[in-house]
Amino acid sequence: MFGRAPPSKSDNTKYYEVLGVPKTASPDDLKKAYRKAAIKNHPDKGGDPEKFKELAHAYEVLSDPEKREIYDQYGEDALKEGMGGGGGGGMHDPFDIFSSFFGGSPFGGGGSSRGRRQRRGEDVVHALKVSLEDLYLGTSKKLSLSRNVLCKKCNGKGSKSGASLKCTGCQGSGMKVSIRQLGRGMIQQMQQPCGDCRGTGETINDKDRCPQCKGDKVVQEKKVLDVHVDKGMQNGQKITFPGEADEAPDTVTGDIVFVVQQKEHPKYKRKGDDLFIEHTLPLGEALCGFQFALSHLDGRQLLIKSQPGEVVKPDSYKAINDEGMPIYQRPFMKGKLYIHFNVEFPDSLSTEQVEALEKILPPKPQSKLTDMEVDECEETTLHDVNIEDEMRRKQAHRQQEAYDDDDEDMHGGAQRVQCAQQ
Ligand SMILES: [Zn+2]
Ligand SMILES: [Zn+2]
Repeated sequence: MFGRAPPSKSDNTKYYEVLGVPKTASPDDLKKAYRKAAIKNHPDKGGDPEKFKELAHAYEVLSDPEKREIYDQYGEDALKEGMGGGGGGGMHDPFDIFSSFFGGSPFGGGGSSRGRRQRRGEDVVHALKVSLEDLYLGTSKKLSLSRNVLCKKCNGKGSKSGASLKCTGCQGSGMKVSIRQLGRGMIQQMQQPCGDCRGTGETINDKDRCPQCKGDKVVQEKKVLDVHVDKGMQNGQKITFPGEADEAPDTVTGDIVFVVQQKEHPKYKRKGDDLFIEHTLPLGEALCGFQFALSHLDGRQLLIKSQPGEVVKPDSYKAINDEGMPIYQRPFMKGKLYIHFNVEFPDSLSTEQVEALEKILPPKPQSKLTDMEVDECEETTLHDVNIEDEMRRKQAHRQQEAYDDDDEDMHGGAQRVQCAQQ
């Protein structure tokens, strides 16, 4: 019932490349890009069917905010598994996507618009935000979802008698074929799902309509799922409820899939099964020893202390075994807890402090300059700098210059003249 291995990060740029849009593309950009490419590559117009399929699939994923978020974070594989049967069995027919995009009726409940074959319903994928504490201790969450289920009153037939009439709009095929004249002797056949029957190929007599579902065949139902988050689950791991997605007639019901999304923790960072935490020591403690209490994710207080005589250097790490994250499905085993030490130095020292320190600190190296050597050197002044700010400013300046150069290219010499006058 639970996903076994944490997913590895797979490709999450391909769909954007297929549609030829940047990763920041807005829903509108996506629509425009898909429209243009799908028309150009439609097999009816001699386009490559594989390319057409690829476009439809990329658009299907990126146009759904939830799927897009999962794709951006975990890539194609996470969706493939989530979207049905490992091989993308729950994927919509690319022609369905095309026709629904171009004004055909949207299909309720993942119903097929092409004949009455059994198809697999779409999986429903939800992100499940979980705190690091919950992943450390394990938890269960009750989540209430509403889903379509087959109407019990009519057994999903939509009518009291169980009978349905062949749709007259499409003669029961669910599709309408329209013919367009493209030019002399050239016609184009376009298939579109029938609007009269929403692509199902059948209609129900008004008097025979099921009073419960009004002929829709499905009704909405609230369902509470008990989602168990096991100790040590990883970010991106899936928790699957098979066959709990929307029901639809002639459809194998898809799965509800929760994808674990680990929330940022204010103190602890997680890398795999290990935990990392920052700790800053004042110089005195770094040199002369320290002791402090660290509260762990389960509320325990860990005593962290140095060995007698030990000196902690800035930017150094120490590890505590078995205080990292529990390992998934082997929760009695744990990773390591790493402490990253920063050392806070005083900004300045008084003359007395310097003299006192010089007495106790290890002697200075013997390579002292002689007075003569000092006389031969040039005097300098050391300024305080914030090196990051400084570099950022210089970078911005270079960019501005590059931009100004471009400008000159565009406007010829006019810009140069203006600059010279300023
Ligand atoms: Zn019809
Ligand atoms: Zn009914």
